[in-house]
Amino acid sequence: MESFDIAVIGAGIAGASAAWAMAARHRVVLLEREAQAGYHTSGRSAALFSETYGNATVRGLSVASRDFLMSPPAGFSEHALLAPRGVMLVGTAGQEGLLAGLAEEGARLVPSVREITAAEALARVPSLRRDWVRGGVVEPDAMDIDTNAMLAGFLRALRQLGGQVRMEAGLHGLSHDGQAWRLETRAGAIRAPVVVDAGGAWCDAIGAMAGARPIGLVPKRRTAFLVDPPPGMGAEAWPSVIAADESFYFKPDAGKLLCSPADETPSEPCDAQPDEIDVAIAVDRIQQAADIPVARIAHRWAGLRSFVADKTPVVGYDPVVPGFFWLAGQGGYGFQTTPAMALCAAALVDRRALPAMATDRGVTEAALSPSRFSKS
Ligand SMILES: Cc1cc2nc3c(=O)[nH]c(=O)nc-3n(C[C@H](O)[C@H](O)[C@H](O)COP(=O)(O)OP(=O)(O)OC[C@H]3O[C@@H](n4cnc5c(N)ncnc54)[C@H](O)[C@@H]3O)c2cc1C
Repeated sequence: MESFDIAVIGAGIAGASAAWAMAARHRVVLLEREAQAGYHTSGRSAALFSETYGNATVRGLSVASRDFLMSPPAGFSEHALLAPRGVMLVGTAGQEGLLAGLAEEGARLVPSVREITAAEALARVPSLRRDWVRGGVVEPDAMDIDTNAMLAGFLRALRQLGGQVRMEAGLHGLSHDGQAWRLETRAGAIRAPVVVDAGGAWCDAIGAMAGARPIGLVPKRRTAFLVDPPPGMGAEAWPSVIAADESFYFKPDAGKLLCSPADETPSEPCDAQPDEIDVAIAVDRIQQAADIPVARIAHRWAGLRSFVADKTPVVGYDPVVPGFFWLAGQGGYGFQTTPAMALCAAALVDRRALPAMATDRGVTEAALSPSRFSKS
C-alpha cells in the first residue's frame, strides 16, 4: 500500500490549490473521483473576482489573493490569471436606498467603489432600459479570472513539487488504525495520517466516512447560460452587470454574454443540471432590465455552490476526529479566495499561525475553524 503524509480528496480548485500549498513541506497525493479535474463546480463558475462580494472573512481572503493572482510565481501559467472587467450593480425604482447602502459599504473596503447615476450606467451598458435603471454602483477593479489557467497552474505546480495526482480514484471508505488513515479508492488503497476533505458538495459525505459530525453543508444549484450579445453595442467591453438585489447577472464571456438568474436552489450533491424554468426566469428578469434579445441559447449549465450556515469557508482539523481536515464551504467565492485559502489551509494543517497576508485582512483561525459548529 502506498503511503503519503497527506491525502487531499477532490481535484477542484480548493483541493488542487491546497495540495500545491501543502506539497512544499509534505508528500501529498490528490485523489479525484472523476476522469477530469474541475469536472464539477470548478468547471462551471462565472469566473469573477470581486473584492466586495461575500462576508468579511470572504472579502479578506479575496483581497489577500489579489497579489498572487496578478503576479503568480514564474512558470505558473502562460496566460494572465486576471483580466480587467469591472462590476456594475444596477437597481430599479425603489432600490435607490439599497444602491446607496451598497456603495457606502463597498467604498469602505475598496476605495474605488462609487455610486453612479442612471445616465452613467446607461453610458457603460447602453442596452439597459432607460425606464428600468435608476442608478448603479461600480467596482472598477473587479476582474475576470481565467479559471482553467488557474486550476491547471496549481496542478502543474503541485506535480513540480513531487505531488501525485490520481484521477478516477474516488474515495469510498476510510478507516483509522490509531496512527493513520487507510483510504479505499477505486485506484487502490492508500495510507496517510492526514486526510484533507476538499470534496466540494460532497464534503459532508466524506466527513461521514470518517465518522465526523456534519458541518451542515448545503449545496445550492446555480444556473448559467450563454447568449449572443446585442450587435453593435460594444458588449465585449461591458462590465459584469449584477442586479443590486442579486436577482440576475450578465457578463461578457469570450464573445458571448454569460447570464444567470443567480438562483440558489438547495440540492443533493450531484452532477448538477440546469432547469429550463431557471433559464426562463433569468431571460425574463434580464429582459425587464435590458434590451438583450435571446434568439438562441448557445450553451447552458448548472453547478453547486456549497455553503454552511454562516457562509464562511470551513478550514481546519475536525475537533473530534484525528487527522481529518476540512476544506469546505467555498460557496460562490472558491476561485477569488484562492490562493489565500490554500495558504491558510497549509498553515493550519501544520498547526502553524495563519499567514500575515490573511491576518492583515482580518481573517482569523476561529472564523474558519470547524470547531465553531460543535459549540452550538
Ligand atoms: C454558476 C456558478 C458561478 C460561480 N461564480 C463564481 C465566481 O464568479 N467567482 C468565484 O470565485 N467562484 C464562483 N463560483 C464558485 C466556485 O466555482 C466554487 O466555490 C469552487 O469551484 C468550489 O471548488 P471546490 O474545489 O470546493 O469544489 P469542486 O470543484 O466541486 O471540487 C470537488 C471535487 O471533489 C471530488 N470528489 C467528491 N467526492 C469525492 C470522493 N469521494 N473521492 C474523490 N473525489 C471526490 C468531486 O468529483 C469534485 O471534482 C461559482 C459557482 C457556480 C456554480
